[in-house]
Amino acid sequence: MAKKQFKAESKRVLDLMINSIYTNKEIFLRELISNASDAIDKLYYRSLTEKDIKVNSHDLEINIKLDKENRNIIITDNGCGMTEKEMEANLGTIAKSGSLTFKQENEKKKDIDIIGQFGVGFYSSFMVSDKVTVKSKSPDAEKAYCWISEGIDGYRIEECEKEDIGTEIILHIKEDTEDESYSDFIEEYKIKELVKKYSDYIRYPIKMEVEHSRLKEGTEKEYETVKEIETLNCMIPIWKKKKGKIKQEEYDAFYMGKFSDWEKPLKTIHTAVEGQYSYHALLFIPSHLPYDYYTKDYEKGLQLYANGVLIMNKCQDLLPDYFGFVKGLVDSQDLSLNISREMLQHDRQLRVIARNIENKIKSELEKMLKNEREAYEEFYNIYGTQLKYGAYDNYGVNKDKLKDLLLFISSSNEKFVTLKEYTERMKENQDVIYYAVGETMDKIKELPQIEFVQNQGYEILYLTENIDEFVLKVLTEYAGKRFVNVCSENIDMGTEEEKEELKKLTEDNKDMIHIMKETLKDDVQDVRFTNRLNKHPVCLTTEGAMSIEMEKTLNRQIGNDEPVKAQTILEINKDHIIVKKLKELYNSNKEELKKYSKILYVQARLIEGLKIDNPTEYSNWICDLISNVK
Ligand code: ADP
Repeated sequence: MAKKQFKAESKRVLDLMINSIYTNKEIFLRELISNASDAIDKLYYRSLTEKDIKVNSHDLEINIKLDKENRNIIITDNGCGMTEKEMEANLGTIAKSGSLTFKQENEKKKDIDIIGQFGVGFYSSFMVSDKVTVKSKSPDAEKAYCWISEGIDGYRIEECEKEDIGTEIILHIKEDTEDESYSDFIEEYKIKELVKKYSDYIRYPIKMEVEHSRLKEGTEKEYETVKEIETLNCMIPIWKKKKGKIKQEEYDAFYMGKFSDWEKPLKTIHTAVEGQYSYHALLFIPSHLPYDYYTKDYEKGLQLYANGVLIMNKCQDLLPDYFGFVKGLVDSQDLSLNISREMLQHDRQLRVIARNIENKIKSELEKMLKNEREAYEEFYNIYGTQLKYGAYDNYGVNKDKLKDLLLFISSSNEKFVTLKEYTERMKENQDVIYYAVGETMDKIKELPQIEFVQNQGYEILYLTENIDEFVLKVLTEYAGKRFVNVCSENIDMGTEEEKEELKKLTEDNKDMIHIMKETLKDDVQDVRFTNRLNKHPVCLTTEGAMSIEMEKTLNRQIGNDEPVKAQTILEINKDHIIVKKLKELYNSNKEELKKYSKILYVQARLIEGLKIDNPTEYSNWICDLISNVK
């Protein structure tokens, strides 16, 4: 059969593996053993549910053979094997969903990131081998097939001889180089060490033929070499061990092996529950979002075991969407093996476990927030958006569960603050929670409306993510305090006297305001004077539920054909020199007053970062003004 090319992304990852700059090459063994164990899990599960598949559970094992002469490591399992089609799909493509664009080809750090994003998997064999052969037989196929690749050039698949169902992987180990002694990997002691280090917990025996030297029978000095099969792993699943007896390094190694991550988890949660329903759960929060998290390919879920037997790889019902980034497993002795997916959904026990797990994750996060602030902030930088979506989703059904896990940047020190902390340190006369919205913190700080609130000594929450304001709208209040956008018109500021003064000013200039309002009637609800501005001549405030930032976000959404519009008010700084000019124009040239009104309105839009409908016209007005300067 002709040689086939790897898919483009696979080729790139393969290239990184072959020329790996990654120092931890030894993890290839962990990956292959983990695949073998998964394959046995699959076959065993099928044997319990399909009568045509017969398996003797005592025979299930992973075998490692070292062939020093030919520089080969041979790893065999009696798992589910692969059909020709499966070989093509599973070993010819990496990152099935990936359509990554690879940038900065030679930047080493970036390379590791890229490998990390894909997970490590089978291709890691190429870090230590220059030829990989996979022989496999599936119970679903008549024949056995062999996949052979010598690296980047491609691979070929052909029929081969193999009696038993399962997979055999033959790694031809690279020649030693100046920096790397690949020969170590064909040494018994090394393999033993690696299995202990990374794969001790694997449920199936990992066996290897080892050589012992012993005294020859009937002699006193003569030694002979005997071969013996030894089981290298202890086989107790890590989640069934006592919590206090496990070191963090062991959890880390388990996580990285099981979930193919190059990085340690950010947080490990291990829990055993006894009671009406008993289960063990081992959960991890990865230290980065999966690369496909925001694509439709990402599937949340936990592995589900029934008394040690894997019955489902991604049980979605065990995790709420907003904790969808959590990885891990649940093992319960009370679950039936033959339970179908549909039945699982309605399974009362599973629902109870899911609820417990949700509460457990939540309480662990609360503990982290309380006791390890820095770690929590690191977590929040990665997953905060998820929690916010969780609070906002479904009209806020989960908002009360999540509101105390949310953080926002505060104006007082530009650091994260919780809503609880904000309300606890509010000034005595303050009765609402202020926030301001913008693309970046710097842009928010430029908002004309900010200054006034800040000058009163009030703290403001800086919202820079699109979702933020929607979350606050859904929450509506915290500890009885409403959320108020500093750019909304109903912001109640200033003394009674000041309010009176503003009213009078508006009254005195009623007709001028009327002309301005008429001119801008398609754009704004109202035109009025304000005392909230300091340096700026004008600003836009909003009336009603939708703010300007929400207008921007909603209009950016694809498929939103009918643009939405926030109801805005043009506010004019009562102390600005512009007021004098407007009054003059009202008396001398009403047409000019109209033009100036439009200019001021466009300026207010520009300050808010809003699009303007008529940039050319606006530019012409400004040019006219410049040309008129004497
Ligand atoms: P992952 O294990 O993360 O899916 P890998 O690159 O390690 O990624 O493996 C790709 C796929 O190849 C596996 O999902 C599995 O379907 C198949 N595979 C790998 N090793 C074996 C094996 N020993 N037996 C059967 N299938 C295997």
